Order: sequence, then C-alpha cells, then structure tokens
Amino acid sequence: MCLKFVTGATNMAKMVYLLEDVIKGMLDYFKALHPMEGILLLRGRVKKDAIYVEQLILPPNSIQGEGFSSFSPYALPLDLSIVGLAHSHPNGVLKPSIEDLNNFYGRLMVIATYPYRSEEDIGVFDREGACVRFKLI
Ligand SMILES: [Zn+2]
Repeated sequence: MCLKFVTGATNMAKMVYLLEDVIKGMLDYFKALHPMEGILLLRGRVKKDAIYVEQLILPPNSIQGEGFSSFSPYALPLDLSIVGLAHSHPNGVLKPSIEDLNNFYGRLMVIATYPYRSEEDIGVFDREGACVRFKLI
C-alpha cells in the first residue's frame, strides 16, 4: 500500500498513534456516508516524534458530496489541538490527490478508503504525500 515512507530529516512526526475508538468511529462515519466523501477533524497531542490522535470532530460548515469534501479553515476556532484532517475516498484509492495536498491542514492527513473495514483501509500521510507509520492504541 504505502511504498514511500517518511525517512529523512523532516518536521513530521515519525509515528502516529491512533486510538482504536477513533479508528472505529471514523470508519463507521465514512461507511454511513458512502458513496459520499466525508471529512473529520482530528484532535490530539504532539509529543516529540509522535502524534497521538485522540478525538474526532465534525468540521463546522462542512460540505459533503460525491467526490469532494471541503470546509473553510477560517470557520474553525483557533484550536491548537487539531492535529490534522481525515477524509474518505469512496473510490478506494489509498493515496492523497493533488487537491488533498493543496488543502493540507495541520500535521497529518488520514485517508480512509472504501470498504472501511479496518485499519487496513486507512493511510496516514504527511504534507508531501508520503506515508507515515501508525499504530493503534
Ligand atoms: Zn482525498
């Protein structure tokens, strides 16, 4: 799945820890929206080389639709605990699109793909689109 991993010097975290509940909630939410694309904010903590994703938040004023999802970052409260975004790819492609990278928000991007079964349908990416290793906790 992920052929290109983050290796060299980068300001990205080297490991992302996702709470199991977060993964489950995310997959359930995206599954319910399918075939529409969904988007969620990720709240968590940054610690040295690692990011802990602990909570999902529905973005305000989000637009959910077929093949696109967006929201205005300006509508967000200034919240430093937002570590990134998660969105779904109903087409099953586990790779950020150019648009995704242009709209990168926070420190990491999580993509969940159809059929949203487990963490195998999830990828974590940095702003260059490289895969970041993640673990469930
Ligand atoms: Zn995307």
